[in-house]
Amino acid sequence: MTDFWVTEAMNGFGMTVQVTEELCRCQSKFQKIEVYQTVKLGRMLLLDGIIQLTEYDEFAYHEMLTHVPLFAHDSPKRLLVIGGGDGGVLREAAKHSELEVMDICEIDAEVIEIAKRFLPSISCGYDDPRVKIHIADGSEFIKDKPGYYDVIIVDSTDPGGPGTPLFGEEFYRDMKKALRPGGVIATQSESAYLLPEIVKRLYLASTQVFRSVNYASIAVPTYPTGTIGACVAGDRDDVTQIARPIPEKLSKQLRYYNSAIHQAAFANPSFVKQLLNS
Ligand code: SAM
Repeated sequence: MTDFWVTEAMNGFGMTVQVTEELCRCQSKFQKIEVYQTVKLGRMLLLDGIIQLTEYDEFAYHEMLTHVPLFAHDSPKRLLVIGGGDGGVLREAAKHSELEVMDICEIDAEVIEIAKRFLPSISCGYDDPRVKIHIADGSEFIKDKPGYYDVIIVDSTDPGGPGTPLFGEEFYRDMKKALRPGGVIATQSESAYLLPEIVKRLYLASTQVFRSVNYASIAVPTYPTGTIGACVAGDRDDVTQIARPIPEKLSKQLRYYNSAIHQAAFANPSFVKQLLNS
């Protein structure tokens, strides 16, 4: 048995995974990119030393970040994904036949290339003919798209690297401008155990801009603290509600998302409620 372990260390926590082989390690213009074959968790992608996904549990994160906002909208036709270069959100979005536009704005073309080469079960999201790739900083890209999208999903890295502008209030204002009336956003919003100050900041930024906002928790064992969240927001009466039936054909393709978990994800523990409302 291998004795090779890879550790993500973040904010006083660590997540250690046993690996058998390093498949890829390079430095792009924006970040260090690593892919490992793990012992128990399939392949694992890290950016700047932070675990982005493992094949073992990526379905939980990608299904929730995608289907919660898409089912919170009654008729989504145009989707923008910001970040998400691995293709996982696109793979889930491709299950929605009602989408006509599936744009992705990823800052780092090398993440896309490496995902296509080493993570085919995730990058298969790019196979859908509706997908159009834009290589750009998402915070700049949306400024040129007033009133265009129905749903925007931000699947970004943590603040500190190229994702930093995606965590500011200005970006939330620009996302609102880029939406058609009734549009919905969902943003990777960190763990309330690990990075409470960022959860709070994103929630506040959303409430400054949108009428209905809430934080959904997602259980993902391989992220430090085993949980991550999404801020879901829109100018709707209640963005936590499912706005249309979930087709049975789509449900059968899912392993985490269903109507009960859609609503349960917003039932936050008291310490999270206090954090959001403080
Ligand atoms: N699931 C993830 C996690 O754990 O945080 C995020 C995965 S996805 C690989 C994050 C992507 O966001 C990366 O490919 C990164 O290049 C991209 N990204 C970071 N900053 C960006 C920006 N300003 N505009 C567009 N894409 C960005």
